[in-house]
Amino acid sequence: MKPKIWLSSPHMGGTELNYVHEAFDTNWVAPLGPNVDGFEKDIASFLDDKIYAAALSSGTAALHLALVIAGVEPGDEVICQSMTFSASANPIKYLSATPVFVDSETDTWNMCPDTLETAIKDRIAKGKKPKAIIPVHLYGMPARINEIMEIAGRYNIPVIEDAAEALGSSVNGKMCGTFGSIGILSFNGNKIITTSGGGALVAHDKDVTAKATFLATQARDAAPHYQHSHVGYNYRMSNICAGIGRGQMEVLKDRIERRRAVYEQYHAKMKGIVSVSFVDEPAGYYSNRWLSTVLIDPAQTGGVTRETLRLALDAENIESRPLWKPMHLQPIFDNAPYYGKGISDKLFENGLCLPSGSNMNEEDMMRIFEVIDKVFK
Ligand SMILES: *Cc1c(COP(=O)(O)O)cnc(C)c1O
Repeated sequence: MKPKIWLSSPHMGGTELNYVHEAFDTNWVAPLGPNVDGFEKDIASFLDDKIYAAALSSGTAALHLALVIAGVEPGDEVICQSMTFSASANPIKYLSATPVFVDSETDTWNMCPDTLETAIKDRIAKGKKPKAIIPVHLYGMPARINEIMEIAGRYNIPVIEDAAEALGSSVNGKMCGTFGSIGILSFNGNKIITTSGGGALVAHDKDVTAKATFLATQARDAAPHYQHSHVGYNYRMSNICAGIGRGQMEVLKDRIERRRAVYEQYHAKMKGIVSVSFVDEPAGYYSNRWLSTVLIDPAQTGGVTRETLRLALDAENIESRPLWKPMHLQPIFDNAPYYGKGISDKLFENGLCLPSGSNMNEEDMMRIFEVIDKVFK
């Protein structure tokens, strides 16, 4: 069997161990320390001059704290993009609130601004103003975030931007994660850079990241003894993981360039196949192309579906995966309200994520292309 080609695997730059060694040498083996502080500064300065970051144990933890800070309480409603990974929506459930799912639009595959406004109006008419809106920049493609911010502003609802997949993506030069009142990032093993596991909460308001750090470290009030006036969490990032993150930040720009080059290779290879389509960058949009994705329209292929390609790749020990199955189709969210026109349903039906790791070499690409040739011959 030929070696496995993964969808997206960790890719170390080489300097990570220096930071980790330093942590050992100075005995900062704890969920605080110089690497945590340094990593937060690295993230913030990469994103924007005037933003702050709190390094946390995961992107999911960051979303959970973002919702706590937004004041979400049991019985509240939170609007969330339906087409996403379940981690975007699960923290709503942690707080015994109800997710209200909103469909995608076809240009970016992310939250449709029109459907969002329909949902807001209808929830308000039903007597429940949503407490927050969670748009997602899927696969690195920025959502229609300016339009979403405009609508959210009109109804005065905070936006929590799920930029877990979109570190380095931007709209008109403004980075994903910096539009909303809070942004969240993930450094899980499969993301564009990794700390093995980790996340961050970012905000322009320093009080917000300070609050996140406070909540993430068991919410200890200022007192010599342990005094608590809030429910706390143990969500801080380890100084060891942050060391990996510091090294990864040094190569982030290369990783983005490489992922974009992988996408370009797929695009060049398949743009001539009538049944295959891609998601292009709208004007002013810049995607980190975390994952390269394609749609395969079986009506135009004489029966070739995304499953045909997925299984053919799998037979060659190459990992690929259908697009995220929308949350409104998931058993755990059976009873959640949903607004949409079946766009994300269709994307799920026809869409496939192709191997996109920045550490894939030419030989790997050739193996993938051979399968594509066979399937679409
Ligand atoms: C990965 C991911 C998360 C969760 O991040 P973790 O660090 O794995 O907890 C949230 N939302 C989206 C869209 C993701 O892809």
